[in-house]
Amino acid sequence: MSSGTAFTIAVNPKIPARLARLDELANDLWYSWDRSTRSLFSRLHPGLWGAVGHNPKAFLKRVDESILLKATEDPVFMANYNSIISAYDSYQSGPAHPDSGGGFQPNDQVAYFCFEFGFHESFPIYSGGLGILAGDHCKAASDLRLPLICVGLLYRQGYFFQTIDNQGNQQVTYTDSDFEDLPVMPVLHENGSEVRIEVDLPHRKVVVKVWRAKIGHVTLYLLDTDLPENSLDDRDITHQLYGGDRIMRIEQEIILGVGGSRALREIGIAPTVWHINEGHAAFMMLERMRDLVQHGLDFAGALEAVAANTVFTTHTAVPAGHDYFSNDMISTYFEGFCHDLKITREELISLGRVPGSNDFNMTALAIHGSRFHNGVSKIHGNVSARICKDLWAQIEPEENPMAYITNGVHVPTFLAQEWSDLFDRYLGYEWRTNITDPEYWSRIEAIPDHLFWSVRQTLKSQMLYGIRARLAFQNSRNHGSEAHLDRLLRFTDPINPNILTLGFARRFATYKRAALLFEDLDWLRRIVIHQERPVLMIFAGKAHPADVPGQDLIRRVSQIAQRPEFEGQLLLVEGYDLRLARRLVAGVDVWLNSPVYPLEASGTSGMKAGINGTINLSVLDGWWGEGYNGKNGWAIKPGPENMAPSLRDKEESRDFYETLQDHVVPLYYNRDKFGYSPEWVKMAKNSMMSLLPRYNAARMVGEYAKNFYVPASRQGALYADKDFSGAKKIAAWKAFVRKSWRGVSIRRLDTPGKCISFGETLYFDVAVRLNGLQPEDVVVELLICRQFKKTKLCDFKHFKFEFSGIEESGEHQFTLNLTPDLCGKLEYFIRVYPSHPLLTHPFEMGMMVWL
Ligand SMILES: *Cc1c(COP(=O)(O)O)cnc(C)c1O
Repeated sequence: MSSGTAFTIAVNPKIPARLARLDELANDLWYSWDRSTRSLFSRLHPGLWGAVGHNPKAFLKRVDESILLKATEDPVFMANYNSIISAYDSYQSGPAHPDSGGGFQPNDQVAYFCFEFGFHESFPIYSGGLGILAGDHCKAASDLRLPLICVGLLYRQGYFFQTIDNQGNQQVTYTDSDFEDLPVMPVLHENGSEVRIEVDLPHRKVVVKVWRAKIGHVTLYLLDTDLPENSLDDRDITHQLYGGDRIMRIEQEIILGVGGSRALREIGIAPTVWHINEGHAAFMMLERMRDLVQHGLDFAGALEAVAANTVFTTHTAVPAGHDYFSNDMISTYFEGFCHDLKITREELISLGRVPGSNDFNMTALAIHGSRFHNGVSKIHGNVSARICKDLWAQIEPEENPMAYITNGVHVPTFLAQEWSDLFDRYLGYEWRTNITDPEYWSRIEAIPDHLFWSVRQTLKSQMLYGIRARLAFQNSRNHGSEAHLDRLLRFTDPINPNILTLGFARRFATYKRAALLFEDLDWLRRIVIHQERPVLMIFAGKAHPADVPGQDLIRRVSQIAQRPEFEGQLLLVEGYDLRLARRLVAGVDVWLNSPVYPLEASGTSGMKAGINGTINLSVLDGWWGEGYNGKNGWAIKPGPENMAPSLRDKEESRDFYETLQDHVVPLYYNRDKFGYSPEWVKMAKNSMMSLLPRYNAARMVGEYAKNFYVPASRQGALYADKDFSGAKKIAAWKAFVRKSWRGVSIRRLDTPGKCISFGETLYFDVAVRLNGLQPEDVVVELLICRQFKKTKLCDFKHFKFEFSGIEESGEHQFTLNLTPDLCGKLEYFIRVYPSHPLLTHPFEMGMMVWL
């Protein structure tokens, strides 16, 4: 039909009254972790459900009225519907989870800012690990009824969809989202008008519309600049996640940080804690400071007031991974801020300064503007403390304020339905409220082995069905023959899922070393190509469109997969997203991870695997560094950090091959008379029992609440009390200490003894030149511990000196009597550092003098 214009019109079904609440279900991301809700939609029309990308809201706008009407007549469907509605209602109104972190006061409110949020594949505003972690944080906060709201950007296109061609080239497609199809609504004023705020950018104002999404009990506010009021360039600011150049990035970060805090103010939300999840959102603190300065506080006081209740989480383990901008860009974009904050350009820029670098670093800004900081695993906490050590120049990294809270995953989202059904039967429904209790989870042991194995087989079989469908699609799009497809699918028999299957899926970034397994192809061939004990390897992942080496890696995997000897045994599956991730982590037997130590900040896909009884085989980096216990998987010990990279790859790949051939393959194929491997089941159970109670988001969010949110809320209130007198006091005190500190010194007055008998008392006597400070402005301290080869500062016992008078020289005398309760050779140190009861962290000044 070419004779005229094709007009389009959307005909929305009228949802029958008996199913009216489908609309409510479609507008609450509760569906992203409640599988029965998703199945309810899917059951109505599986074809349409697939076609709309498992998006309930889009589905409801397109499903034929007749199907809905028929469903109302179907007693089975209606029973299912009613039971889901009642589960939904009890989630909405039911009592708080017992792990709720406690300690919150009625008006406490945490605002969590992040550049991306990953809840479900139908809501494309995420790219990978960071977004999914943020999504899991919201979901767990909802489960725990934490007073949390979130702020992010509503991307028109989100991240790209990936296809991979015959040559292994990654092709990138972006699709515009129709916001009507997304589970979002405009935020409205009481009078019914839409909430809009303005953000200043150089020579213009950008109008920002505010949307909201409901994630159970949590509200996510999303900012959108794609409005007719804005210029075409400005409409594009919220177009793509991680697209565009540095200008686009700084404008996105300004919209998120500055716009986000304005939006909350406009809506009438007054958070008592502000969480910057990764540096992108750090400009938020400047906007908050501007507000305080406008109300009469000076810059230093405003900085203290803002930092006191701000939490910052870093997710990067390489300094180059930290977000940064040139100082010129900062000057251009923040001229107005300098004026409003009554500071010079240099003062502003110093907030983002890292010694030794000329750029404005968002991590530095976030740290300067927060008093609670953390990395995302134990190893990463240490690495971050070292990377950021210059921000607390005189403090040893192991004592500086960079803490860690290890990531976790949202169990209801990533635990396969078959497991939760089995838990319901064997553990009882209360497993859901015992998620963080290791004791409780030891009951997994009692699940009969053959049942455990059969769930694993079922999940593997489902995963293989999914992989076959994807590969068939991929093959036909790439014009592959039927014969080629048959060869590809030789080892993916869902009816007989008895081939050891390894999974590797994550972002293709070079440090993740997707090709480590291909270091020695001959060796790999000897392991995986075996008549009785074959091995199937499944790879998936996206590379950022600007990451050329990452895309080279995809090509390399593709080329090896196409070698005749590996064809069918190494599968590269395109379009890695949450759906494929859920399938893979639960369906493969072994989850591989091979990062370059210590660059994997945490990693979370291995946690998703572990809770599903999939066994991890990983380099001891990120979360696995603390998750591995010797019985719950296999560990590759990283080579020394200073080893040449190629040598290190060789060493570690060797370790991989040996582990595979000597442990993994024999253990898997060591079947008993019932057809499964009891030793394998034992390890898989160990994996589940040890990882599920610890690497879950409820534990993680509980730690944020207890260690950060509650104390930050109190600290913020303390500083703000009586017209910010606390903030003013600490700012003035710090300024004085900074001026005086250079002249502070310490010397010893007593003569150090060499040997005493147990029970005798030692007397220490030091003179401290305080250079104008008062004795109560400092702590003079002795640290003592047994002399081991490698002592760590944290192993020391601490003893405080007492002020005991002023010397003739003007120095202050401090003394200490100490009766050691240890014998043997002891080691001790004496030091002095500034101290004030209002400080949040004892070493936040970064100042210390050692004797
Ligand atoms: C969990 C997840 C990630 C993050 O996994 P890592 O192990 O941290 O790389 C990335 N993408 C998707 C789709 C995921 O589900």
